Amino acid sequence: MDKLELWKTALGEVELNVSKANFITWFKNTAIQKIKDGVAIVVTPNGFSKEWLENKYNKLILKSLRNLSPEIKDVNFIIGSIGSLKEVSASKEKTKPTKKEPSPQQPGFQELEANKETNLNSKYTFDDFVVGPFNELAQAASQAVIKKPGQVYNPLFIYGGVGLGKTHLLQATGNAIANTHKGFKVKYISSDKFTGELVNALHQGKMEEFKKKYQQIDMLIIDDVQFLAGKEKTQEEFFYTFNTLYQANKQIIISSDRPPKAIATLEERLRSRFEGGMIADISFPDLETRIAILKSKAVQQGLALEEDILTYIASHIQTNIRELEGALNRIKAHYQINNVLPDSNQIKRILGTIINAPKKLTNHKVILKSVAEFYDIGAHNLIEKCRRKEVVWPRQIAMYLMRTELRSSYPFIGEKLGGRDHTTVIYACEKIGAEVKINENIQREINLIKERIYNS
Ligand code: ADP
Ligand code: MG
Repeated sequence: MDKLELWKTALGEVELNVSKANFITWFKNTAIQKIKDGVAIVVTPNGFSKEWLENKYNKLILKSLRNLSPEIKDVNFIIGSIGSLKEVSASKEKTKPTKKEPSPQQPGFQELEANKETNLNSKYTFDDFVVGPFNELAQAASQAVIKKPGQVYNPLFIYGGVGLGKTHLLQATGNAIANTHKGFKVKYISSDKFTGELVNALHQGKMEEFKKKYQQIDMLIIDDVQFLAGKEKTQEEFFYTFNTLYQANKQIIISSDRPPKAIATLEERLRSRFEGGMIADISFPDLETRIAILKSKAVQQGLALEEDILTYIASHIQTNIRELEGALNRIKAHYQINNVLPDSNQIKRILGTIINAPKKLTNHKVILKSVAEFYDIGAHNLIEKCRRKEVVWPRQIAMYLMRTELRSSYPFIGEKLGGRDHTTVIYACEKIGAEVKINENIQREINLIKERIYNS
């Protein structure tokens, strides 16, 4: 067995012992350069991979190599390109590219449509779902549900902020169930869509059909259940569906951007149902996990980014995995246009508008003062009971900014704004959040206030 064959076979064994995401991330573009005095010299594409392989996979690699070639006593890692090594392989051995080496492009992912029956999109799998301290509870609970749907955690309620992987996890769980439990009827639906279907059924006098359809499901996955807030009729119908399935031991999985307690205007009976099962949160990924996620996605996209660049991105984008992906997409676009990867200065420019300068610290007093000044009212107006329009809007903006800039809890914000109820705060944050998305004037308004906040 020559060194190329040896490495390929050893990787086959390594692959069995690590997740696919990790395998792609850390073992792509590696090869044995030579074996000298019992030491295998392994080429890795950059310092980052080298470090990871040394620290995390050294033992596994050595074990796999020794199983094949007992004279190997140690492994050393160096940085280098495997280009020339690969050519040797192609001409000398006529080896086909190993099947185990996944294509970096992952073509066609975007085109894959969701299945009409289940609403599941096969692009979401556990293979490329990176697990870290921030999501391991939710991931483990989902795995338990996959093994024993309807029997362990029912309902499973997963909550976490925007862009942190709720939909991915729910969809991957649905896909895993559909693959392992043939004939199992899985249905994924966002609570908005559920409401839409319900309203249609009501209008068309097809409620019986609607009910029947949902009663036949073996596993119901409802995404973003917070949107049921305030929709009484939908909640009533959902409660009915929920109970029917629950009593028949059918699995129910729910996601939300906040825990059941914090969903304003959720009927008490639904809340207590949600709280009756397993509640798992997804928090924010730490730096190491963010780097691992970036690395995994960069490799999938065929971008060989240096360690300092990955660290730069991961240090600046802290609260949203979707934004990490957005950053990579920009870099990819640059790469496709210019045919070279951007250097670190270019990266800063390309990502400037996503990242903007690292945030300075602020506090709620500065926010209240800045908002009041901006709208030319007194800071006391924000706190007092008055409901005049000129005061209500600034107050809502202040709540929104305390939430987005300080990540303050809703009750804390309510308290600082004159002892208002947390549901009032949630309402304000949602309302302004929705406006910001569609209204450029409001975006500008908020940016101007932020300038005051951070330059005061
Ligand atoms: P949410 O539903 O919580 O808003 P999504 O599930 O839509 O978030 O995730 C946002 C993006 O980040 C998706 O493209 C998803 O594939 C990706 N993503 C989320 N969590 C992970 C993870 N743990 N590993 C890899 N990619 C992730
Ligand atoms: Mg989602």
